[in-house]
Amino acid sequence: MEFCAVGGYSEVGQNMSALRVGDEVVTLDMGFYLPKLMDFEEEGGDRRNLTTDGLIRLGAIPNDAPLAKWRPLTKAVVLSHCHLDHLGATPYLAPRYGNAPVLGTPYTTRVLRDMIRDERLSFKQPIKTVNPNSFIRVSKNIEIEFIGVTHSTIQTAIVAVHTPEGIVLYANDFKFDQHPIVGQKPNLKRLRQFSKENVVALVIDALYAHAPGKTPSERVARHMLEDVLLNSDNAGNAIFTTTFASHIPRLKSLIEFGSKLNRKVVFLGRSLLKYARAAEAIQAVNFSSQAEIVGSANRIAAKLQEIEKKGKDNYLVVCTGGQGEQTSVLNKIMTKQLPFDFAADDHMVFSNRTIPVPINIANRARLEEKLRRRGVRIFKDVHVSGHVFREDIRDLFKMVKPQHVIPCQGNSTVLSPCVELAKECGYQEGKSVHLFHDGQKISL
Ligand SMILES: [Zn+2]
Repeated sequence: MEFCAVGGYSEVGQNMSALRVGDEVVTLDMGFYLPKLMDFEEEGGDRRNLTTDGLIRLGAIPNDAPLAKWRPLTKAVVLSHCHLDHLGATPYLAPRYGNAPVLGTPYTTRVLRDMIRDERLSFKQPIKTVNPNSFIRVSKNIEIEFIGVTHSTIQTAIVAVHTPEGIVLYANDFKFDQHPIVGQKPNLKRLRQFSKENVVALVIDALYAHAPGKTPSERVARHMLEDVLLNSDNAGNAIFTTTFASHIPRLKSLIEFGSKLNRKVVFLGRSLLKYARAAEAIQAVNFSSQAEIVGSANRIAAKLQEIEKKGKDNYLVVCTGGQGEQTSVLNKIMTKQLPFDFAADDHMVFSNRTIPVPINIANRARLEEKLRRRGVRIFKDVHVSGHVFREDIRDLFKMVKPQHVIPCQGNSTVLSPCVELAKECGYQEGKSVHLFHDGQKISL
């Protein structure tokens, strides 16, 4: 069995790994490195003008050159969940992998299909939907299992690749949340069974391995949000909120608190429309019956004018812009590309955290400064993480008892605390816990 760390081992983003067993290959995730794409687009570049190799040279998608000989052997392109740093590169890279089907849960494949349609990409490979907690056979020797877990979006899976040489578990981006607000609890029963099976390797989300304890539940974020929205003095003022557009559980909480405040909930932004529609398409939620969802630029402008005219304190606005992105609704309001005037004592609730890369930190700081100058009250970090903390990772080690541990989702600074944790649990660095860089391969 040979494992290749393709992307996401030298940076946070562009996640991609691959596994070869005999003459069969499975790839795991194909994601964007968003900071490079954002830099490029903010300098006026248009990604539609870039070829796949151009995107690789830009550093926006994984450099899959180490897989050149593996591509024709590929039996499946597997996606763990819908986040762009796991899925975004699929339309560009997957066509290099023969006619291998792309596999994902209903929400994940829905988001992929919508992306292909909206960006008018040509994509001919079969896309197959696999329900959480079920199997699909992809070749004579390989079966793929999607084990349902929780994360900051819905229908995230830990992927088990079952092969004649044993199992590889791919657990990249998840948390153990017993109160997920939308969707099912993590399937701990199934995960515990792996301790009795032959798990050769566990690829593990190490992003928060440095964080002590256990990731708080989404229920905690909901309480934080409830406190900010229902227990602060916002009578007569506008309330604007942002979160990650794909964070369906958080959006559900926002809708519910909006209705408790007797305010009409309005979603403003193309990406909010995209992820909400996808969630409705698979019948995970029914946001349209409780909120107005506006995606196109003209309609957003008209809606903001209506909000000012009919009284801003009648609305709770959920908009894009939590990272201060230039193209977001919030940034366009602050730069007068969209019509709305924030006034002193209006509320701005950031129900997210700034992704710690320079472009986001700078954009967000600029945005907050503009809000502050107008006297807007800022509530930030009303949020809990979607990633496992240190003690959750230790729990997973105990549940599945892998022979090898492969931390992923960051450079060596991010991955090292997970290596240390594995060493605490009896693994040996270089022998049974492996600190990789993008492009490295190992025989297991
Ligand atoms: Zn994710």
